[in-house]
Amino acid sequence: MADAGATFDAFQVFDAHVHVGRWRTPDFAGRASDLSDVVRVLQAARITGALVMPTDEGDNAGLLRALAEYRARTGSGPELYFAAWIRPADAGLEEFLDQNVSQIHAFKIHPSFNRLPISDPAYRRYLQRASRDRLPVVVHCGRWQEVAGYEIALRVAADHPDVPFVLSHMGGDSAALVLGAARAIRERGLVNAFLGTESIREYWLVERALDLVGPERVVFGSDHNLNHPASFLAVIDAIALPPQDRARVLGQNARGLLASAKTASR
Ligand SMILES: [Zn+2]
Repeated sequence: MADAGATFDAFQVFDAHVHVGRWRTPDFAGRASDLSDVVRVLQAARITGALVMPTDEGDNAGLLRALAEYRARTGSGPELYFAAWIRPADAGLEEFLDQNVSQIHAFKIHPSFNRLPISDPAYRRYLQRASRDRLPVVVHCGRWQEVAGYEIALRVAADHPDVPFVLSHMGGDSAALVLGAARAIRERGLVNAFLGTESIREYWLVERALDLVGPERVVFGSDHNLNHPASFLAVIDAIALPPQDRARVLGQNARGLLASAKTASR
């Protein structure tokens, strides 16, 4: 194993699932943190880059403002990319997306909070934008199968082959759902479907999913500001991955997806 700093790629850890702001859902008990809180936590966990997104408040404009201030203020610190929170009921959303095209690196879709599966026609225009601008779509997957099931996300991924879809929580936070999603991606040869590791605590489950889909399809994420990134880095480090595969999972895959966006300025 290399020492810290000796191997460039192995230590460019990128967290592809980070929230900034206050949660409205009572499930998260008013949890809130601002961008400087988040940056401190990322730095403490030695994370060099992150894809940041709002909470269920969907405050895209507020986060984009905070990011502009952060970039103006700091010469160092993690490299931050912005994912816009896509809630079709948000009246100002289209205008926001039009006005900030060059600042938007990805979309985040949370079917459960929106109470709309990603297959709903209300998302069509956003998926068309994602296709036009080659933006990755991070889609929450969970146990509510009719709304947030991985099957729905994979069907939509098959219909939009030029849009990369990162299935959060590796397709749903249970062994059966994770392995089901991994097998489906493999059997259907869905090269635009990826599994985000956030909130999966079972290292052996991540390992089995990796065996099924390969290290190029797994993307490290923590779901900070709910989880601490160090907890989920520990899950990846508990797997004896060859250094090259580890580097893919911990950053190269996510950076590759973000780098192929057509419009992003950063
Ligand atoms: Zn999340």
